[in-house]
Amino acid sequence: MGSIEVGSEALRPTRTELDGLEILSRVRPGAPIVGLLLVVGGLGLQWVLARSPELVERVFARGLYPLLGGRLGCLTRLLPISLGECIVLVLAGWLAVAFWRLARARERRPRLRRLRRAALPVAAALYLAFLLLWGLNYQRQPFAVSARLDVRPSRIDELAALGAILVDEANQAREGLPEDGAGIMRLADGRLHALARTEAGFREAASLYPVLAGCPARPKPLLTSIVFSWLGVTGIYFPFTGEPNVNMTLPDPELPFAAAHEIVHQRGFAREDEANYLGYLACRLHPDPDFRYSGHLAASVYAVNALTALDRAAGERLEARRSSGVRRDLAALLAWAERYRGPAERISQRVNDAYLRSQGEAQGVRSYGRVVDLLLAERRARPSSVCPPRPWTPSSAQGEVGHDLVCRVSVTLLAVSMLARRLILVGVVAVLGLPLACRGRPPEAEVPGLIADLQNPDPAVSGKANLALIRLGEPAVPQLAEMLKSGDVRLRTLAVTALWGFGEKGRAAVPTLAATLGDPVDSVRVGAAMALENMGPHAKDAVPDLVRSLKDRDGKVRQWSAKALGSIGPAAEKAVPALVQAAKSEGIRPAAEEAIRKIRVLREGQPVPEQ
Ligand SMILES: [Zn+2]
Repeated sequence: MGSIEVGSEALRPTRTELDGLEILSRVRPGAPIVGLLLVVGGLGLQWVLARSPELVERVFARGLYPLLGGRLGCLTRLLPISLGECIVLVLAGWLAVAFWRLARARERRPRLRRLRRAALPVAAALYLAFLLLWGLNYQRQPFAVSARLDVRPSRIDELAALGAILVDEANQAREGLPEDGAGIMRLADGRLHALARTEAGFREAASLYPVLAGCPARPKPLLTSIVFSWLGVTGIYFPFTGEPNVNMTLPDPELPFAAAHEIVHQRGFAREDEANYLGYLACRLHPDPDFRYSGHLAASVYAVNALTALDRAAGERLEARRSSGVRRDLAALLAWAERYRGPAERISQRVNDAYLRSQGEAQGVRSYGRVVDLLLAERRARPSSVCPPRPWTPSSAQGEVGHDLVCRVSVTLLAVSMLARRLILVGVVAVLGLPLACRGRPPEAEVPGLIADLQNPDPAVSGKANLALIRLGEPAVPQLAEMLKSGDVRLRTLAVTALWGFGEKGRAAVPTLAATLGDPVDSVRVGAAMALENMGPHAKDAVPDLVRSLKDRDGKVRQWSAKALGSIGPAAEKAVPALVQAAKSEGIRPAAEEAIRKIRVLREGQPVPEQ
């Protein structure tokens, strides 16, 4: 018996050798000093660099970061789930088991002492890795300086004007979007597919601000989204894996904006107001209407909140201006926040506030709202409209919208094999299978099937086909133009709505859309005018028809025709006398005057011709 006792005693040290915490305990006695020096060095580096933002911009943000931290996302985007979240979960489980064992072990004191000695060097290593992989972006030049935006504290009248424009933009963008049973805007292709579409907006935004170009990112769905909901967190960027992560319990209207916000962080913009502004920009320039709406909605909420804080009545006037669809969506967002409000959320807000302040954000969590100052600065820079000319091209390539099942399985196997050495063979098979499994399908062959799906009475099937057709672009236009000539008003409505999402890629349909401005059904004529508006200068052949539509019996047709003429720009010069005439009627005046400004390239405040 005794020998067995001895034997099991003898086994114990071997067991504790395997204890996770033993790894941490094997630090040299001098390690805490080294750790302390590293922390002090890191803090000193941040302090010094905060005083040389141009240097950080040149050397780190545009030099080292895109090569190091910015590249991490290129690798991790291949995984369908968040590697960062998996690592955190595994580490948390490992620490919990290790501490539980420690609590039950004999001779705890010396081990605890060694652990305390290890804590500082480990924290120092993580802190330095955080700074070098991403954190120094807090010290980069403010985006407003790089983009030459004139940021200054906002005045009430400026805020009210901005809020009104953003509320109207959100109302317009909401029109025609698919809804769920409760009338809340719905992402027709599902949340996961929507996440994969986020990047398309950044390709457009990068043509405006090349600094937004970068390794294509793939926002990841958080497996523990519910935990993040209780913490009041809508998304999180993991700098150690370069992954933007999104809380999947968010209502559909907010999800695209939340995903775009996190991608901005991945592009090297750490400050929250900048992530909000650039995320909004990527949504606004996105080829898909649901993303555009999400961006306009978020921006309008920030603007109206900022105005309400200064002038409650003015804020309420703007709220009253919102369309019923937008109001339903905002109610859903509010209900989401209410559902998860509680002590965890309050503590998490305080932690985030302290974290942001420690990174030099003097206003802490209030810095998210400073996005309004950037929106106003943009308005000052481009006075005739909040929007710069919108480059309209359809969304991302086919392959990006979603890997098929085989691809997902291969990638997951690869990830699993990385975690367990014994599964290395599985990993090799997965690597060999990846290129085969993840290649895209040829797009043209899909048109007839998608057109059939578009006509399906189930709105979910139809909505999904609509987005797929928009993504496909030109090859789908002839069949949609044919649908516009159908005797069935439902088919004409479907076609005109789809073509609206095409932007300039639908330009081959301009003659048919121009003819559709004479359709007997009001909503179809509105859709045709909206589709032409979305094509910008490419719709110039429709000018005579649009001029005729300025006298349409329906107010919305008149309004959208004026907008379309404005978006055609100088090529619609011949329409100016008709627009001047139209501006005399109250309902259409703002749209007509705006159109004249765009055609004549006038700045805001410059008088438009009166005859
Ligand atoms: Zn953020």
